[in-house]
Amino acid sequence: MKYYAVVLFVLFNTLVNAQINSNPPNIFIITTDGFRWQEVFKGADYKIISDTNYVRDTSLMIEQFWSEDLLERKKKLMPFFWNVIAKKGTLVGNREYGNDVNVANLFKISYPGYNEILTGFADRKFIPNLTVRNKNSNILEFLNNCNGYAGKVAAFSSWNVMPYILDEKHSNFSVNSGYEMLDEQNDSTNMLINSVQNGVEIKSHTRYDLLTYASAKNYIEQKHPKVLFLGLGETDEFAHKGQYDQYLQKAKQVDQIIAELWYYVQTDPFYKGNTTFIITTDHGRGSKTSKWSQHGFWVKGSGETWMAMIGPGIAAEGERKTKGELYLKQIASTIGILADEDFHVGDHPVAAPIPLTKESTVTPIPTNIKPITINLNNK
Ligand SMILES: [Zn+2]
Repeated sequence: MKYYAVVLFVLFNTLVNAQINSNPPNIFIITTDGFRWQEVFKGADYKIISDTNYVRDTSLMIEQFWSEDLLERKKKLMPFFWNVIAKKGTLVGNREYGNDVNVANLFKISYPGYNEILTGFADRKFIPNLTVRNKNSNILEFLNNCNGYAGKVAAFSSWNVMPYILDEKHSNFSVNSGYEMLDEQNDSTNMLINSVQNGVEIKSHTRYDLLTYASAKNYIEQKHPKVLFLGLGETDEFAHKGQYDQYLQKAKQVDQIIAELWYYVQTDPFYKGNTTFIITTDHGRGSKTSKWSQHGFWVKGSGETWMAMIGPGIAAEGERKTKGELYLKQIASTIGILADEDFHVGDHPVAAPIPLTKESTVTPIPTNIKPITINLNNK
């Protein structure tokens, strides 16, 4: 009897593991361009929000985004970050505690930043923000070549340079960026989004984030990608214009988009309990009040970034308040760790992953697992 019990136990564990491995974790990488750690961790900046050079209606903005109380203030701007991620996930990059997240590249602009995040390599070669091919291999294409992820990788971005950073032309996963049309075949939602895109008269390099999100969301619902890159861009657009009011409104919208996506994955049987979000930005901006709208090699603060993570494999650490230094280039191999794949490529080195404190080392046995007899008959 004891012997059979042991055999059954071993068999059961093997089946549980087989089931888990056949459904590796889903990973969503979400970025919002050039959004400062200062606003993430401290909410609206009073000096900027009350300056009519940057805000058209200062009293209305103060009403909506300001509070003397730090927690209340940051919750006004990013409620999902501070109500949910701060409790169930990890927030890194509050420099008030010496907890630094930096870019490792020298340039502190977008192309080198996304290259660093997605390839794990801070290239010393300067590539300007233009539609030129990136020859560095990235984590998305790497995972797309792994067993559990093949054909299950997709990228959507507001910025129309992303297909070049991700080298879509030489990859096997799709990237939808800028005002690129969506596949309309039997898809009324995509037809609707396309007609809205067609109606946008002045098309800049950055599509409205809401259109990028709607496109990604429909794809997620229809195709259930296991790895998704969602690159939002309007925070940077309005910062460059020096419009702090719009910059904050767009940041709040990013928080809302992430909240909605998180709710979706927690209530969808395909994604529920098996999906991790990694959220970050490609560069910081000036830390001085007069320089907040700018960024680049010469602007102090441009290399200062942040990260937020939530999902299985991420501990409920909350805001990290210990001294530390992490780099954007560590994200790619961290995604590899979460996917249980060792990210390495032939053409460039890859930075070490971020040390993660795991929630628990014991793999919970899924409650919805079928009885052993039924599993044995499955393929
Ligand atoms: Zn940028």
